[in-house]
Amino acid sequence: MRLPRFLSKHIPGFYVKDFKEWLKKDLIEIYIDHEESNKPRCHRCKSLLKGITGRYPQKIQTMPLFKYKTFLILKRRKGNCPSCNKIRSEYLDFISPETPHLTQEYSWWLGRMCEISAVSRVGELVGIDKMTMWRLDFSRLRRMFQNYKIPNVHRISVDEVYARRKKYSTHESRDKRFFTIICDLDTRRVIWVSESREKAALDEFFKVIGPKRCQEIEVVAMDQHDSYKLSVEEHCPMATVVWDRFHIMQNFNQAVDEDRKWIHRYLTSGEMKRLTRGKFKRLFVKKSTNRTRLENRHINDVLKDNEEFAYLELIKEGMHQLYDSQDEYEAWEKFNQLGEWIKQCPHFYELKKWWKNFNQGWNTFKNYFYYPVSSSLSEGQNNVIKTLKRRGYGYRNMPYFKLKILQVCGFLNSKYVPMNF
Ligand SMILES: [Zn+2]
Repeated sequence: MRLPRFLSKHIPGFYVKDFKEWLKKDLIEIYIDHEESNKPRCHRCKSLLKGITGRYPQKIQTMPLFKYKTFLILKRRKGNCPSCNKIRSEYLDFISPETPHLTQEYSWWLGRMCEISAVSRVGELVGIDKMTMWRLDFSRLRRMFQNYKIPNVHRISVDEVYARRKKYSTHESRDKRFFTIICDLDTRRVIWVSESREKAALDEFFKVIGPKRCQEIEVVAMDQHDSYKLSVEEHCPMATVVWDRFHIMQNFNQAVDEDRKWIHRYLTSGEMKRLTRGKFKRLFVKKSTNRTRLENRHINDVLKDNEEFAYLELIKEGMHQLYDSQDEYEAWEKFNQLGEWIKQCPHFYELKKWWKNFNQGWNTFKNYFYYPVSSSLSEGQNNVIKTLKRRGYGYRNMPYFKLKILQVCGFLNSKYVPMNF
């Protein structure tokens, strides 16, 4: 029996010898055999095999037909390869590069599902055990990574993500347990991941793209990490460093919350203490326009009775307004006003430290008003990576986790790498 056209396109050089079905087991087996014109080639070097020394049965799972699990069964030939000087199995172009037990299409489809769901869940769905699925996904990712090219970028962001809790050695520093994530601000995708959050991690990226492409980078957004800044200054002296608004606000909110604690500690009235802790504490860092009416009324009640909380609110709103400034000079004025307010209160220990620190970094901060880099990116990507981590219940294999980030948040997936069959 000759193959229908669609099948012969996918398994060229074969004809169907037999067809078995077990309807109760939801199983179909298609027995195929070589056409006479089909000459065996070495699966490693693809040169013609001389003399067939044997055949062995090979069962290859392919896409299900309707609801039936479908297998192709053939006798795979072995022969002497003159260039390898070894007995080799024949090359079959329709089997998956990852495993001889799946066809290319089926393994591509499984990999496609691993891009959008947890590997264990995909295994559950198709009846393949978790470890096999994992190995499949990993080797597919490694294969895709071999052809991976970092796109041309002009504006990037650098960020850190906590990757693992386990220490590999007792002297290992905490920095090693982070990943450095590099995003393209224009396509909003992750383009590189390197281990640790030290300077070397970012150096690695600049070395991979080479000095010529480093020259093309105009803006690098980052948190107030000195190690990243040093790396940018070394490799891309022309690039402007901008502090990410998301991280600045994160640090600022932390200082506000610490000082709320201090004020709270020195409160004497029990009612005031109750109103400024527990579920209410997050209200003090929330922007007033983001609060509900009820929340605003609650805050107003507190502010009426306590001058320090009134200053805290003033400072927090002032910081939000700082970002609305038209230029660096307007922002500088607002920033100095913030400093005046902070001085008013004896309990603003953290804010005083924060202000001093920020004052020192003003020369970098002011770049924001020339390159107003949006902060939603690192915030968003951070969340996606956290979700990914939860989906896999944490990753023990760091190279795999790195590739997985590039797959889910970057370009290492079937949307960007077309299938090659
Ligand atoms: Zn060979």
